[in-house]
Amino acid sequence: MTEFHITADQGEAALMRDILRLIAHEPTLEHVVSPLVELAVDITDAEAGFYLVFESPRLLRVAGDHDLFPEDWSDESLKELVNKLEEELYVSANVFEPFNTRYQGWLLMPVRMRNNTISVLCLLFESTTALSDEAIEILSALVDGLRIVTVTARNMARQETSLRNQNEFVRIVSHDLRTPLTSIQGFASMLETDMMGELNEKQHHFVDKILAGVAQMTSLVDNIQDAGRFDPETGFYEMERIPTDLVELVRRIVDSNLLPAEKQELTVVMTADDDIPILNLDSVMLERSITNLVDNAIKYTPNGGKIEVKVRHAGGAVVISVSDNGYGISPEHQKNLFQRHYRIRRREHRRVRGSGLGLFIVRSVALQHQGDAWVESEEGKGSIFSILLPLSDDNIIGDQGAPV
Ligand code: ADP
Repeated sequence: MTEFHITADQGEAALMRDILRLIAHEPTLEHVVSPLVELAVDITDAEAGFYLVFESPRLLRVAGDHDLFPEDWSDESLKELVNKLEEELYVSANVFEPFNTRYQGWLLMPVRMRNNTISVLCLLFESTTALSDEAIEILSALVDGLRIVTVTARNMARQETSLRNQNEFVRIVSHDLRTPLTSIQGFASMLETDMMGELNEKQHHFVDKILAGVAQMTSLVDNIQDAGRFDPETGFYEMERIPTDLVELVRRIVDSNLLPAEKQELTVVMTADDDIPILNLDSVMLERSITNLVDNAIKYTPNGGKIEVKVRHAGGAVVISVSDNGYGISPEHQKNLFQRHYRIRRREHRRVRGSGLGLFIVRSVALQHQGDAWVESEEGKGSIFSILLPLSDDNIIGDQGAPV
């Protein structure tokens, strides 16, 4: 971290420039408060100073000369301090009762945000001193700087808490949904195998529908769970790489993909180049992503259509593509397709359920592998979704050497 030393013995403009630079460099309380408090002490010839941040009416933290903060300050005395600050608009150079310290003068500069005192800059003097207008002006600028940093820090802390709560919520919901789904799936499968007595054709048909619904819901829950692992802004998540045979992985997906009852006439075929190396990939997340693409192709292609999954060696990369001859997507929708929760409202899609998370996950996973994901599509003709994984850096295993 760069050390900033701001001193008062320079012109006012230079001082302001340094303060702004300090804040812009890293707008965190830890980084900014100490140098600014030191500067305030310097400018005013105070003995010491500290900075209190309130999460009203509690004290959140103290920065600066910690040991000067009177240990016997209770929440009550803090409340009193906050109230007093609300009365005193700007600077109070009086001894501040009821605090018993050896200091004769206290200078308190409340930092306000929409009528609330969010923090206060405290300076301590051995004797009461009059401050020059210039010093007060610089102090006001310091307080403005402290306000920016304090508000930023509070917003960041709130955002982190809300993200944590959201992730926790998603984790609990998806976990609790899985248990009943597993039991529905188990009992419906028992019915399907005629273990509990032979079913007639109509009953078989309905059981198939239950199983297809359960499978869809399970994949939805998995997607929600995965999305909970992501940072919603950046799509970032913790990678877990293992040596992965992409061809094998894609074959497993294609072979296991159960076509729903109403799509039995769809064909799903796979082709792969023979020189695809074993790569160091987040196999679980890639499997999830490719499964999403194949599932989508099935969902958005009418019965009788054709889906093709290809694994190709293309220059310095491997490209996995899933093409279909289904409904296709208009150029205007293609732009937003990979955003979280983006779904296209179309008549043909009306009965297709989904969360709009699938493609967001696909793109995030590709980006995490330093690759990319994209779509080429024409309405009424079909779509090709592709994931590119570069044969470089962390994707390569050990000394496999530079790719062709
Ligand atoms: P979901 O399928 O859960 O709605 P996705 O993120 O996987 O969410 O897809 C977002 C939207 O993109 C879908 O709602 C659908 O309208 C469109 N889409 C995805 N794949 C295809 C495809 N192969 N053909 C046509 N539209 C598609």
